[in-house]
Amino acid sequence: MNRRILLVEDEPGLVMTLSDRLRGEGYSVETALDGDKGLTRALNEPFDLIILDVMLPRRNGFDICRSLRQQSRQTPILMLTSRGQVTDTVVGLKLGADDYMTKPFEMIELLARVEALLRRVPDVPTPPVDVYQFGPVKVDFRTAEVDCGNGPVELSALEFRLLRYLIEHRGAILSRDSLLNEVWGYNALASTRTVDVHVAWLRQKIEPNPRYPKYILTVHGLGYKFVG
Ligand code: CA
Repeated sequence: MNRRILLVEDEPGLVMTLSDRLRGEGYSVETALDGDKGLTRALNEPFDLIILDVMLPRRNGFDICRSLRQQSRQTPILMLTSRGQVTDTVVGLKLGADDYMTKPFEMIELLARVEALLRRVPDVPTPPVDVYQFGPVKVDFRTAEVDCGNGPVELSALEFRLLRYLIEHRGAILSRDSLLNEVWGYNALASTRTVDVHVAWLRQKIEPNPRYPKYILTVHGLGYKFVG
């Protein structure tokens, strides 16, 4: 599957150069030209990496970064800060950015950072099928789209990774720790409680009756099991 990158940047020239170059490297690139759009897309669509400018109209990059982390979105963030504003980088990293680059930067260096960050995203084995269906729910691994029978359901990148992992390991009992390692991977800050929260969210979105789950079952004292 192509790695999906969200570029949140308001300088048209830079947006064009950067997205051209990233696409040339084989990434699939989506862009948002202001902070509000950037946050909405980052919250609602699955991305493997977000390149986030700090100075943006409507909502700045710090704000976006903070909101994403507060809502448990673990997508790696590469921040673009302005020259001379050292405090920017410190603030950005504190708010949960994974790396930063100071403008103006060399394209080749940015590509190296992008590659390094993407390497940290847990490698998910290619699913044996493009589309997996259970009950009325259809999961398209090529487009990362989920449909529950009455239209598309918006899953965050993390929820999609979790669902995918559950499907790939259907029938097996998966402990919270193993889910943390395999789905969250690099993020040492997440706790097993995080797993429960995301499982609950995922159930809200795909289970016909989230209070009595049919597909994502709780195995008391052990973890979870996907059946479907
Ligand atoms: Ca800017």
